[in-house]
Amino acid sequence: MTLPCIEPRDRLLMGPGPSNVHRRVLEAMSQPTIGHLDPIFSDMMDAVKDLLRKMFQTRNALTIPLSGPGSVAMETCFVNLVEPHDEVIICINGAFGERMADVAKRCGGTVFRVDAPWGQAIDVEAAKEAIAANPTAKILAFIHAETSTGVCNDAEALCRLANERGLLSIADAVTSLAGIPVNADGWQADAVYSGTQKCLSCPPGLSLLTMSEKAEAKIRQRKTPIQSWFMDLSLLMAYWDGEGGRTYHHTAPVNAIYGLYQALRDVQDEGLEARWSRHKTAHQALVAALESLGLDMVVDEAVRLPQLNAVAIPDGVDDAKVRGILINDHDIEIGAGLGPFAGKIWRVGLMGETARLENVRRLITALGSTLNAMDFKCDTDEALARIEDLND
Ligand SMILES: *Cc1c(COP(=O)(O)O)cnc(C)c1O
Repeated sequence: MTLPCIEPRDRLLMGPGPSNVHRRVLEAMSQPTIGHLDPIFSDMMDAVKDLLRKMFQTRNALTIPLSGPGSVAMETCFVNLVEPHDEVIICINGAFGERMADVAKRCGGTVFRVDAPWGQAIDVEAAKEAIAANPTAKILAFIHAETSTGVCNDAEALCRLANERGLLSIADAVTSLAGIPVNADGWQADAVYSGTQKCLSCPPGLSLLTMSEKAEAKIRQRKTPIQSWFMDLSLLMAYWDGEGGRTYHHTAPVNAIYGLYQALRDVQDEGLEARWSRHKTAHQALVAALESLGLDMVVDEAVRLPQLNAVAIPDGVDDAKVRGILINDHDIEIGAGLGPFAGKIWRVGLMGETARLENVRRLITALGSTLNAMDFKCDTDEALARIEDLND
């Protein structure tokens, strides 16, 4: 039997992640592997930590990449900060909020939910009431950019609330970082984590974490040992901190870190503000063109994420068929709906490298022709013209 060769097609990745990765990052990852305690690698680790602090807008000492995808960063936060029977308030308005609640329970936490319907933002007043009703709660956790719905929660208000009431905050910034402002110090957040495969445009497999001194103190004061050896931050810091020489914890994914380093440098070269505004421009073009085609956005404009666009699937249009044509005939991936949104929405990602007008044009051209072939009549040229109008 001949084995299939490794020849993935060059897809346009407009789903909920991963996003398209620039050649520079892929080339960085193909450089020679060296030891994870090699002095050359140590210098790179220091540079990575500095660049991460700029990305998270923080001075937190504990700011490191983790060896595992975004879910590992989520789990690392809860495993370190939650002790058995700790009360944890979790804001839930989508699939990733649900995942947080699941993780917190598995750490032995007692979870109190602050729910909002899918497609809507968390009501900060409801979070306030939940804290008042549970005065011994220790943690408030939420998703900044809820990738299952395209909703942006008010991270600043939620972190400030937690801080005022003496709770630690955990903010999931997996989809927000490098796409919209994330300001760990400005928010006074205690734990903020992210991933590499969304707006940072680095292959999946790594995640990013920053923790405040207050969060570090909480870990030091634990009465029970951290149940995970791999995710124990006190052990991980002996490798990443390097005071008095780095010690072996686990073998760092050296080549993946090369890629992260390159992607972080690319963000630095572009500038955070310019990157946020590129996401916004692509988003505005996409929305104008989709609405011109006759499609509706699901999320209210005030809380819409630019990098994840929930689009209502028109009645009578076959969800799976459209996505199938886009990927098989046009090499374009868009995302399906999850949970209550399954079959009802498409999730169009404009993350990192993907967030460019030429990609929006390419999607609109392909989607317009696909919809017309399925008897949903729309004017593709008119929709494309709307994109150019915005550019003038
Ligand atoms: C993608 C995502 C995660 C999980 O990241 P993985 O890399 O898939 O493990 C967590 N939270 C949010 C909000 C995400 O969008």
